[in-house]
Amino acid sequence: MSKFEPMKYRHIFFDLDHTLWDFKTNSLATLQELFVTYKLSRVFDDFDSFHEKYEKHNLRLWNLYRRGKVTRQALNFDRFYLPFSEAGFDDPVIAGQFGKDYLAISPTKTKLMPYTLELLNYLKAKYTLHIITNGFREVQERKLEMCGIRPYFNKVFISDLIGVQKPNIRFFEYAVKSTNARKKESLVVGDSLEVDIAGAQNYGLDHVFFNSKQISHEKKVMLEISSLKQLFDFL
Ligand SMILES: [Mg+2]
Repeated sequence: MSKFEPMKYRHIFFDLDHTLWDFKTNSLATLQELFVTYKLSRVFDDFDSFHEKYEKHNLRLWNLYRRGKVTRQALNFDRFYLPFSEAGFDDPVIAGQFGKDYLAISPTKTKLMPYTLELLNYLKAKYTLHIITNGFREVQERKLEMCGIRPYFNKVFISDLIGVQKPNIRFFEYAVKSTNARKKESLVVGDSLEVDIAGAQNYGLDHVFFNSKQISHEKKVMLEISSLKQLFDFL
C-alpha cells in the first residue's frame, strides 16, 4: 500500500451520508416526526420499538439493493411496510405514503457532522472537492442544497445516476476519470469500510477511514480518524 502523502493530492472525494451529512440524526428526526404524524403509537408500544424493527429491515434491504437484488422502489416500500405489518398493521397504501414522506422530508434536515463547514472552508482553497455517494439522485442532491454545502463541490457523483454503487470499482473509475484527476492525486474520505474504503482500495486510491463510532476492526487502512477535526492536521 502506498503512503498517505498530503502533498500529492489534488482531488478529494467525500462520501456524504455519515461522513459530512449527519444521516443518523437527520433520519431519526424524520422518523420521529412521521411517527407522530401517522399516529403510530396506535400500532407500536413506543417509537423505539418501531425504530428497532425499521433498522433491521432497512439494513437488510440496503444490502440487497447494493447487490442489485431489489429495486429502490421495493426498498423504500418494504422498509416501512414490513415493520408495520410485523406489528399487525398491514396497510400497503399507508406504508407507501409513509415511504414517500420519508424521502421528501429527510433530505430537508440539515444537521452536519461536527467540523464539516470549517473543514470544507479550509480544504476548498487547497484541493478540488467532490462528492461520491450511494443513493437516490433527487434525495442526495436535495440534502446538499438544503444544508448549504453544494457550492464546495466541483462534481457530485450519485450511484443512481452512474448505474453502479460503491464499492464497485466502476463507480470510482467513473468518478476519477470524469474529473480528469489522476489516481495518485486522488483521496477518498468515507465512513464505511465495506463501501468507501473497500472500493478505494480495490481501485487503488488513497483513502481516509472516518471511524466516528470508533468501531474496532482488522482492516488495514491508510489513515483513520475519529473526528473530521483531525483532517486539519493531515491535509
Ligand atoms: Mg457513508
